[in-house]
Amino acid sequence: MTTAIKSLTAPAHVSAIAPYQAGKPIEELAREFGLDPATIIKLASNENPLGMPASAREALVAAANSLARYPDPNGFDLKAALAKRYGVPPNWITLGNGSNDILEIAALALLESGTSSVYAQHAFTVYRLATQARGARHIQVPARDYGHDLDAMFAAIADDTRLVFIANPNNPTGTFVPGAEIAAFLERVHAAHGDRVTVVLDEAYNEYLDPELRFDSVALVRQYPNLIVSRTFSKAYGLAGLRVGFAVAQPVLTDLLNRVRQPFNVNTLAQAAAIAALADKDYLERSYALNKAGKQQLSEAFDRLSLRYVPSYGNFVLVHVGDAARINLELLKRGVIVRPVAGDGLPEWLRVTVGLPEENQRFIAALTEILAA
Ligand SMILES: *Cc1c(COP(=O)(O)O)cnc(C)c1O
Repeated sequence: MTTAIKSLTAPAHVSAIAPYQAGKPIEELAREFGLDPATIIKLASNENPLGMPASAREALVAAANSLARYPDPNGFDLKAALAKRYGVPPNWITLGNGSNDILEIAALALLESGTSSVYAQHAFTVYRLATQARGARHIQVPARDYGHDLDAMFAAIADDTRLVFIANPNNPTGTFVPGAEIAAFLERVHAAHGDRVTVVLDEAYNEYLDPELRFDSVALVRQYPNLIVSRTFSKAYGLAGLRVGFAVAQPVLTDLLNRVRQPFNVNTLAQAAAIAALADKDYLERSYALNKAGKQQLSEAFDRLSLRYVPSYGNFVLVHVGDAARINLELLKRGVIVRPVAGDGLPEWLRVTVGLPEENQRFIAALTEILAA
């Protein structure tokens, strides 16, 4: 009965939403299987296995003194630090409660019923969620080799399309589109559609790219008034629990985003910690190096086990295991949490976040045992 009432009172486009499936929290698995939380390893949410940077912890503790007050609604200090880092004026930056918030804000600012967004099959789930929440139509373009097919995405842009989402690297597949192809796509979209279609280039895993693959996406923002580049402090900067991300876009677009943003969307602790983390080059380098070695460790294990995997440019690897539901359950029984991705149209795959070397090893040992049984 309750369900019926809810479906009567909520708009149909809201009732139709399949909610986000987060990685299982350690405490939840401990309760379900009667395990000691200290023995559980979580490789399910692309979190940084190094833990938060010590520099950020110090900044956060100092900022705790001012928690009776609202956060700075304009994030003056954090925007100033980001502006300096990326070489743009502060009014080109939007702060988000995680970059997830940036994606939602973009959808809120640009989509409504009667419009559409374009994104790739197996791309980050939030693109669908943010689109559906606006009552807009989503156009999902078939993936090519588990990644973005930019030609097909360009062709899929319809008269009512207002937003195109690109995850680069993509989650959960770990694929990457080189800078030259992104630039060519932006040129085509802008030439054909002008400012009517905004492109969100979601670079949540940018800091994990090998140096020779990195490209200057902020230079593209200077070139294209219809581009939003989004980044996060949740992954390589190790601050997932604080929720802070940001967007870089030209002022007209940034002003639009700012109109629909919650006034205090990034809290005081998050602002302080992000400023410290941004300055902590050593932590970022350690994150990159640990991740590169861990990806190698996982890939070699998958090779030994003759498992197919998608070469990853992020901090996780998508691996083909066949009966993913069963393997996932067996891993859970052994205290190892990874991410099933059936909801992303990949029912035979698991996504494994790169952990510390010993965590990767525990996962590999458990998987080896399960496959041998
Ligand atoms: C993790 C992730 C994000 C957002 O993470 P936040 O914690 O909200 O900053 C955005 N895009 C992709 C592709 C991601 O994987």
